[in-house]
Order: sequence, then structure tokens, then C-alpha cells
Amino acid sequence: MTSSDTSSDAPPSKSLRFVIIGAGMAGILSAIRLKEAGLDFVIYEKADKIGGTWRENTYAGIACDVPSHLYSYSFALNPEWSQQFAPGPEIRQYFEDVAERFGVASAIRYNCEITSCKFEVGRWQVAAADGSIDTADFIIAATGVLHHPAIPAFEGLDSFAGLAFHSARWDNDLDLSDRRVGVVGTGSSAIQIVSAIADRVKELTLFQRTAQWVIPVGNQTYSETEREKFRATPQAMLDIRTEVARAFIDGFANVLGDMDSPMIEAIQATCEANLNDNVKDPDLREKLRPNYRAGCKRLVMSERFYDAIQQPNAKLVTEAIDRVEPSGVRTKDGVLHELDVLVMATGFKVDAFMRPMEVVGREGATLREKWEVAPSAYMAISIPDFPNFFMLNGPNGPVGNFSLIDVVELQFAYIMQLVDHVRSNSCKEISVSRAAAERFDEDRKVAAQTTIWSTGCKSWYLDANGVPTAWPWTYDRFQEEMAQPKLADYEIR
Ligand code: NAP
Repeated sequence: MTSSDTSSDAPPSKSLRFVIIGAGMAGILSAIRLKEAGLDFVIYEKADKIGGTWRENTYAGIACDVPSHLYSYSFALNPEWSQQFAPGPEIRQYFEDVAERFGVASAIRYNCEITSCKFEVGRWQVAAADGSIDTADFIIAATGVLHHPAIPAFEGLDSFAGLAFHSARWDNDLDLSDRRVGVVGTGSSAIQIVSAIADRVKELTLFQRTAQWVIPVGNQTYSETEREKFRATPQAMLDIRTEVARAFIDGFANVLGDMDSPMIEAIQATCEANLNDNVKDPDLREKLRPNYRAGCKRLVMSERFYDAIQQPNAKLVTEAIDRVEPSGVRTKDGVLHELDVLVMATGFKVDAFMRPMEVVGREGATLREKWEVAPSAYMAISIPDFPNFFMLNGPNGPVGNFSLIDVVELQFAYIMQLVDHVRSNSCKEISVSRAAAERFDEDRKVAAQTTIWSTGCKSWYLDANGVPTAWPWTYDRFQEEMAQPKLADYEIR
């Protein structure tokens, strides 16, 4: 078949069953699209609620750093967003509402963790932790990216007499007032937490291993009048979405691949001015100044952080952590920082994806072997020898580049074009060929060398060999690739 040979307009004739794994943003989208297509599907969700990252992360100050009118499904714009960057609980509620409104919530099997998917006699055998087995023609792995907390193995952590937990295990019933709170980490989660709690805790100690560039972005509240306008005139939301998307693509997503782009320099200048203008004490300012380029790590957005860390009850600690003791954290200089609560905003095991799930494809090919060195997937979607198995937001996608909802919508439309070939009986099995997957992997590694992520910092964008794993090209190119699968890259049986 040639790249222009697509049967997406062919009349559907085959009844197919889909298993969607995960009821987060991507799983809900998949279910809605499959329902619209009249296909049979079920969603398995390991937890007892939907919402993925927005269910797992409920820490103080959580919000999305993509504007909400952009971080919404294109077909379910939401006039009720309270702010330009809506808080986490509002986003989780949005996904619940959309799942109900589009009639897919009833298809979710909660508390059902899928442990293995095996391709046997042309179909996928899906096993769950509770011992149940299902069978499907297609698997959609919508399992998310950042969901396995990475907790440092600090010596003595278990001996801590106060409360210690990861940022993704926040207890909202915990009253932090009058507590001495330590936060480890300076990623987006830590910065949001610090900004939110600084003025309500007794003492705040931020343990910084690496300083972060912070870009000051305000968060406009939408008034009732504005929300009324959005309700009455959906076009107004669409206009915001289009405008924000274009600005985001031109000013960020399209320039990440060119470390020398003037736009990256402009981002650097904005971050530097933010630091220089807003941190008064020169010692503190220098401690907060990163020694790598803005954008190399994921940019942190905050208008509040520098104010928060300069409050009289807040302290920045840059000495490395030596160990945790019952009464607090001792740093390498011998100082004990006494604490009641220790929050580890220390990120996630970013190379897990759907693992520890076992996936066994054609002729015994396993995910464990395929990803032994590093996870990879052609177009972030397909893995050789895993026919009719597609990932959403898999490895090598534009994970830090743009609104992940937009990414997933494009990916799912692409997947549906592949599905249509099976649906119209032109084939039974479809997966990327080994040659195309290898070529894609080599090309993206070459392209990664000129990205801003390759400019000499440590970050979760890098694999174990220091190679950036995310989509290294422009976002426009991603949209073009997603418009139509190149069938010559697929093994079709
Ligand atoms: P992260 O960006 O991986 O940050 C982890 C932080 O913990 C880093 O500062 C890291 O220091 C520090 N750390 C890790 N191990 C440590 C150790 N042993 N000792 C001392 N410090 C240690 O994690 P995150 O903040 O949870 O954010 C992860 C990603 O989630 C973000 O990049 C973003 O994509 C997403 N996120 C998004 C939003 C949003 O608004 N949309 C909000 C939160 C998170 P080093 O820098 O030295 O490694």
C-alpha cells in the first residue's frame, strides 16, 4: 500500500471490540470517539474515579499551566472555567461532566487494573489484577505519562516522626496552619505548592537541588459576565482558543527544536528579568539563578513563587539533603531543619508509561524487551509486533510542547484511520513496521540534538543516555504527520 492509500471513507462492515486502558483525559476522549463511531468498547480504570493526573494530583495550588480554553476538548468547550488557568479540581470535574454528558461514564470498569495484554490468535487477551479476562480486537493504552511517583531513597525517611508524602499523594484534610513544612524539589509541582501554602504555614523550607527558571504568567479570573458571554456565544471561547493556540505554537511549541531561536532568547530574557526584578536579596537571587538555559528543563510558570519564597517564614535551602531524621531533614552541612510535614515534590518515573503491565505481541515479542534500553514508539502511537495496539501520549510525543488534549485528539483521529482499514476488511492486523520504527527513532534522536532540551541540564525530558525523548520537531509537523498515516510505514496483514 502507498502512503496515500487510505480507506478511511470505506463503509464500515466489521464489528470490533476495543479495550481502553485508563479513564483519564485520553481514555475519555477515546471512548467518546468510539461511541460516535458505533464501536464496542470498555474502559478499564485502576482507581475508583476518573480523571487521571487530575485525580492523582490534588496538592495545594494545583492548576494546569496550559490555558483552560485550550486545555479542553475541541468538541466540549467549557464556558464555566473560573480562571484562565483553572485549578485542578475544576479540571477533574470537567472530565467527569464530559464523560457523563457524552454517555461514556457507564462504560468504565473501576478498580480494575489491567496487568497483561497478550496477542493470541489474532486478538488481544486482557487480564486484570482481580483475575478477570477480556478479549479485544484493539487496545488503546491511555495510561498517562506522569503517574508513578519517584520518591528519593533518603536515608532515615521511614524514621520521620511527622507526615511525609509525595506531592501526588496529598491529603486535603491535612491542616497545614501552624506546621513547619518542608518541600523537596523545584519542579512545577513544588513551585505551585510553595506558592499556595507559604502564607498559611508556620514555617516553609524549600529544599532546592537545582534552581528553576520561572516565567511570570498571571491568571485572569473570568467574571460572571464573561462566563455568560461564553455561554451565549461559544464562538467567543473558540476565538480565545484559536488565539492562544497560535501564540503557544508560534512562541513556544514550534521553537523548542531550535535552541538558537530568537523566541527562546526572548523567553530567557523574560525569566531573567523576572528573577532580577523580583528577588531583592542578592544572595537569595543568585541561589535562585539557574546555571542552564531557560526552556532546557520544563519551564515553570508562576507569578507568585518569588513572593512566596521571600516571605519571612520561608527559607530556601540549597545544601544537599544528607538524611531524614525523626525531627526533620539534615543537610550535608550538618544543619537539622526541623519539620512537621515533608512534601516530596520529586517528580515521577517518567519512563514507565503503561508498565508494569505486561504486553506480549506477535510471536512472543514483549514490551520488556522492546523497552529494555528506553521506551520508544513510532509517532508516540505504535510499536512493532504489537498489532492493533495503540498508545495515546506514548513515548516520543510532544509531551511538554503543547496542550496534551489537542495532542490526543490528533492522535486518536490518526488511530481511527488505521482502525478503518481493519473495519473495512482490507486487513486484520496493523502495526508499525520494524524498519519504520527504527528510522523514526534514529531521526528523532538526530533532531533532538538541536532542541533546547539538549543544552546541558538534567531533566525528565532526557532518557538514561541523556537524549531528549519528546517530539523534537515543530508542532506544525506533528499536526501534519497526524493528518494521515503513512501506510508504507505500517505492517499490514
Ligand atoms: P519534576 O519536574 O520532575 O521535579 C522534581 C523536582 O524534585 C526537581 O526539582 C528535582 O531536582 C527534585 N528532586 C528529585 N529527586 C530529588 C532528590 N533526591 N533530592 C533533591 N531533589 C530532588 O516533577 P514535578 O514538579 O512533579 O513536575 C513533573 C511534570 O509534571 C512537570 O514538568 C509538568 O510536565 C507536569 N506538571 C504540570 C503542571 C501543570 O501545571 N500543568 C503542574 C505540575 C506538574 P532536579 O531538578 O535537581 O532533578
